[in-house]
Parts: sequence; structure tokens; C-alpha cells
Amino acid sequence: MTHKYPSSHVLYRKLKREYPRIVRGDGCYLHDDQGRRYLDGSGGAYVVNVGHGVSEIAEALACQAARVAYVTGTTFTNDAVEELAAEIARLSPGDLQLVYPLASGSEAVEAALKLARQYWAESGRPKKHKLLALAPSYHGNTLLALSASSREQYKTYYGEWLVPVARAPAPYSYRCACRGVAPLCPACSGTAIEEAIVREGPETVAALIAEPVGGSSSGASVPAKEYWPRVREICSRHEVLLVADEILTGAGRTGTWSALEPYGVVPDIMVLGKGIAGGYAPLSAVVAPRRLVDVLARGSGVFLHAQTFSHHATLCAAGVATIKYLRHHGLIERSAAMGRVLHRQLEELRAFECVGDVRGRGLLAGIEFVEDRSTRRPFPPAVRFAESFAANALDLGLVVWPNSGQLADGTGDLAMLAPPFVIDEQQIAEMVGLFGRAVEKTVTQVAAAR
Ligand code: PLP
Repeated sequence: MTHKYPSSHVLYRKLKREYPRIVRGDGCYLHDDQGRRYLDGSGGAYVVNVGHGVSEIAEALACQAARVAYVTGTTFTNDAVEELAAEIARLSPGDLQLVYPLASGSEAVEAALKLARQYWAESGRPKKHKLLALAPSYHGNTLLALSASSREQYKTYYGEWLVPVARAPAPYSYRCACRGVAPLCPACSGTAIEEAIVREGPETVAALIAEPVGGSSSGASVPAKEYWPRVREICSRHEVLLVADEILTGAGRTGTWSALEPYGVVPDIMVLGKGIAGGYAPLSAVVAPRRLVDVLARGSGVFLHAQTFSHHATLCAAGVATIKYLRHHGLIERSAAMGRVLHRQLEELRAFECVGDVRGRGLLAGIEFVEDRSTRRPFPPAVRFAESFAANALDLGLVVWPNSGQLADGTGDLAMLAPPFVIDEQQIAEMVGLFGRAVEKTVTQVAAAR
């Protein structure tokens, strides 16, 4: 049975669509109460990495919940949070050794930016308060995270409540002047970030927040190999903290624990979320070095950001169990290997005129749809290409993550794939096949509507 507002007491996210009721999942598949099966091609919202139905993770949660319901992180520590912090510190690059767990990506972004600000204030540099972020980008929906995000349609009703954030163009090579080919344009080389810092006044800029590999908003755009080393150097030279938003890309999604890893770059703060507890519990984390936190420890003695459910033992236990499962089953290596298979097979989609680009790394892929491939002209927003495509895919039994309106003028259509890391070659072929059928169906519908 599908559900639609106002047929139940749930305030659904979308008030004009129907919701199938999912009753169980196993591996890469979801099953609804009508016996329909869906291939979870996007791991929901890029969350499900170890797959559905892993009983040892469910048992780890139950076990921890049975030991203690809740203790406040202001008064107590607990086994699970200590173990999670040690696991994440072991996986993190350089001096990123301290972990502050929260329950959502937006909360982690807010906490990371507040940590950056408090660090400068307690370092005797109170003028360093400005934030710099890229366009397009997405960092969450709470008000500071939304301020940092460059997704104008999400701000429609809330503009008056948001704070100003300086912008530099993201390295989105399908849509930039150089198309990712040397000599790189300012957006793709990192020069645009330096220009923005200088424009704002380096003595006023606290932090740059950016996604190491583009998420939904630039459709898995992968910056050139020179990009992050250059941005790291620019941030260090201007004393701007580099905050890597690895909420979507972390926990193995791009074939390495963090997406920055292949660039050999260590950020000043990293935020994780989504996959770190595999979807079994809502969990996120701010990962920071002692050199930042020591300043607070010597000064006020408190990180001025407390939330009831930070350091929650049951959520942390889910994170520990997920990280151990990823390790024991070699799933991050598998994300890299299956990612190569996925990207090879996705090349077939270029046969469709409306597929402008296919890109990504590991088990993260973005497919950009265009009305005219030669000029890269997007579909008019009224066509609702990405949304119609996702609905058609769902009808065919494939879950994808659609995204539209990422470009400055509100146009743009993307479909994202991010399947669980347990996916095999045959399931990838099934996924790409269903994707192609959904493209055909959408193209036919769009043509018929004109
Ligand atoms: N940062 C990035 C890169 C994201 O993709 C998201 C969510 O999609 C967030 C932050 C916000 O995370 P959450 O939705 O868990 O608040």
C-alpha cells in the first residue's frame, strides 16, 4: 500500500507524492509491503554502505542500549564513544585525532564551524569570523549549514535568517571555462579560493568549508590532482582553517576512507556522517587535531557547543560495529574495485543524447542530463527531468538520488548513484540496465509533453 498526505499522521517530506512502505532490506535490495523489490542504487541518501540486514550491527546496537539508555556527555563518558573515537582517529589522516560525535551531518557542520570560530577567538584573533564556501555546494539544512550551502532554492523562505558566507566557484569541470583540461581555470586550479580570501581580507576569514569530491550539488565532480594540495597551501599561507566536509564522501564511499586521501592532504577539521554507522543509526562526527582543541583547553576549558544526543552510546556502538564490519569484510577496497566496474559500465549511458556527462569515483557516480549535448544546455526547470527520471526509475524498481537546480540560474539535472559496497558485478549490470530504461522512458515522456 502506498501512502500519501494526508492519509496518515506522518508529515511527509513531499506532500504531493506517494510513498511505498518498506518493510525490510537485505544487501542491496529493499522490499515493500506489496512484495515489490527495489535495488537501492543510492543507498538511500548515500548512507547504506555495508548493506541492509547486517544482524551483527543490529545486535551491537541492541546490546549497548540494553546496557544503558543514556548518559549525558557533559557528565560521563562511555565505552562506545571511547572506542568509536579511537577507531576514527586510527583511520583519519595526520593529526586529526579528536572525535566529537553527533547525530546528523548538519549538526556536525555547525559544530565544526563553531569550533573554527571559537579557536580563532580564543587564539586572540577575534576578527577571524568569516566563512568561505564553494558554489555549488551543500552542507546541510540547519541555518548555519544552510548559510554555508550554495543551493539557493533551499533558502527560499529563510533568507532573512541566514548569515552571509563568502563564495568561490567550485571545481565543476563539466561547467567551467577550462573543462578540466590544463591550463586549469581559476575554479579548477584553486586560484579562485585565493582570490576570495584576499578579497575578504585574510585577517577576517576563519575557515573554508568544502566537499573534497562533489556531492549532490556538483554531481560527483572530482577535482584535478593538483587542486587540493594547492588549496591546502593557500589556506595555510593565509591562516584559514580548511574544513573538509566528508559527510557524503567519507566512510569509503569514493573507494578510500576519506575522499581527500588520494590527494595526500590533511584538512584542519573533517566532518563525517551518513555512512559511518551504515544507516543503522543516525551518527556524525567532527574530527579535529589537538593543536586546535588545546587552545580551548588552555583558555575557556569548554567547547561551547553542547547537544543532548552528542556522544550517545547506542549511536556510537552502531558506528564502531559498522567500521569493524567495513574492515573485516574489506568493503572499502571493494568500493574502489566495484567502483571501477560501475564507471566502466556507466560509459554505456553516453549513448543517450540527454546524458551530458558521467563522472565520479569509487561507488559514487553522478550523471548529468542536458537538453543539448553540444552546448551543454540544461533542460528548462519546467520539464523536471531529474525528478521524472527518479520517479520512472522507482517504478522500474531502482532507487536513485535526483538533484536539480544546482546551477546559478536554477537549472540543472543530475541523477546520483551510490549503491551499498556489497554490490556485485551482476547487480551493477542490473542497475545500469534499469537506469537506461528509466532514461528511455523519461525521454519519451518529455517528447510527448512538448
Ligand atoms: N554535507 C554534505 C556534503 C551532505 O551531502 C549532507 C547531506 O546530504 C550534509 C552535509 C548534511 O547532512 P544531514 O542531512 O545528515 O544533516
